[in-house]
Amino acid sequence: MSGKYDLGLEKNDANYTQLSPLTFIERAASVFPRRTSLIHGDTRYTWKETFERSRRLASALVKLGIEKGDTVAVMAPNIPAHYEAHFGVPATGGVLNSLNIRQDPGSIAFILEHGEAKALIADREYSEVIHKALNMLDRDLLVIDIDDPLGKRGEPVGGTTYEEFLNTGDADFTWRGPDDEWDAISLNYTSGTTGNPKGVVYHHRGAYLNALGNIIAWGMTGCPVYLWTLPMFHCNGWCFTWSMAALAGTSVCLRHFDAKKIFSSISEHRVTHLCGAPVVMNMIINSKVEERSAFGHRVNFMAAAAAPPAAVLERIEKMGFGVTHAYGLTETYGPAALCEWHSEWDELPPVERSMMKARQGVRYTVEEGLTIGDQETCKPVPSDAETIGEALFRGNIVMKGYLKNPAATEEAFSGGWFHTGDLGVMHPDGYIEIKDRSKDIIISGGENISTLEVESVLYRHPGVLEAAVVARPDAEWGETPCAFVTLKTGAEETKEKEIIEFCRARLAHFKCPKTVVFTELPKTSTGKIQKYVLREMVRKL
Ligand code: ADP
Repeated sequence: MSGKYDLGLEKNDANYTQLSPLTFIERAASVFPRRTSLIHGDTRYTWKETFERSRRLASALVKLGIEKGDTVAVMAPNIPAHYEAHFGVPATGGVLNSLNIRQDPGSIAFILEHGEAKALIADREYSEVIHKALNMLDRDLLVIDIDDPLGKRGEPVGGTTYEEFLNTGDADFTWRGPDDEWDAISLNYTSGTTGNPKGVVYHHRGAYLNALGNIIAWGMTGCPVYLWTLPMFHCNGWCFTWSMAALAGTSVCLRHFDAKKIFSSISEHRVTHLCGAPVVMNMIINSKVEERSAFGHRVNFMAAAAAPPAAVLERIEKMGFGVTHAYGLTETYGPAALCEWHSEWDELPPVERSMMKARQGVRYTVEEGLTIGDQETCKPVPSDAETIGEALFRGNIVMKGYLKNPAATEEAFSGGWFHTGDLGVMHPDGYIEIKDRSKDIIISGGENISTLEVESVLYRHPGVLEAAVVARPDAEWGETPCAFVTLKTGAEETKEKEIIEFCRARLAHFKCPKTVVFTELPKTSTGKIQKYVLREMVRKL
């Protein structure tokens, strides 16, 4: 800039630093050294200790030869070591690659190979899988075993334990931020519901911004107590790993969980926040009375990863949970949109209120753009709540790109927007509503049918525990909706005809399922229903 506002300092002088979430932990440790950072069973760490352990980890990795741009993989549940890796790995200039713990050896081997991991920190619960995956690799990899007394412990894979490894590092290691905020901080593979896993690369800037974006979106203040029901391997725990350091809040770790564990953690630690896919909400709603513990405070639940049926939102809110509905993808650092709430909507009748909340909403404060546009031209569709288009994002919390995949990166960003592959509509008030993934939409007699709309009706049936709808090829109509339904215990006698009648009373007839299959629903490790498996089942009907 020239003229009177050119004050002589350049962008890279001391008053302009590269954004990185690594700065949050330094602050947490210096401002709140004695505050609890992590709770894991009977173990408690303070922020001073978590910072120290993360520094030791960084130092030990550097001694091992990890340099800027090297990948360090972690295979661990939601435990302190995994949390520490979110700081210790990037502090070396390295890139954290958290692996999905439910993956098979072949996929793990693929990711270690593709991401070129130099070291792997792995919990002994997964020793067998890791062992098999390593046998598929052509090269040796340094493995550090996490030896968690609370977990199942398979045969060690590496020659050193995580705690021994930390002891080789210096607690006063000089913490280094990125040279450039555009440097990679993490590598997250998509779960592959849409084909081959792609390596989504996050930069420090985006991670910093979305960590703060979460805090704004959820109105988090004070010292929140966050329960780790969402896997840390999923988009770095939707960036909440870094949000918690920004707030110097307390994380309650969980290796595994069920409804009982969720309730007991909430009442024991006075949990204020937790995240999850609608399956986690379902787990809470459908818990048995003896699994529940009482709690007298409001618990905030952030729901994303799949569309929460309005009926599910209604029920969980009655149980003392306040729900924030967010929407995003691995490519957008997790949640990048939310159904921003207007207090006057609280006055709406319950069903309408939940329908409002089931909308995916508007962009996060830290995201620049979200629209529903034409898949080819990106031109926004009219805000008429009817015209279907693709959800498109733009801004600083969209990934840096796909690792070693320029063609996919270019395609994803064509037309200057990031293409989500989700189809939806724009409401007159500027809120988006997702109707389907582009490949999930059903076209029957030339009409679009949103499977989410049909599912939301199925969820209102008192006997339905879970439901998913996919297209069934049909000679006359092209496709018709086929519903897969899991019934609640006690409702096993429900018949196909009854379900169809229930839908016909609430939906345009062409949208109603023509077939109903009663079964368990196949899910991904992040709790999403695998529609492609259902489509395969349909072909065999
Ligand atoms: P994958 O694509 O491998 O399943 P992601 O975690 O990136 O893994 O999934 C992102 C997808 O999840 C979105 O494209 C969308 O289809 C779905 N999704 C996430 N949040 C919501 C939501 N609130 N409502 C509807 N769908 C959602």
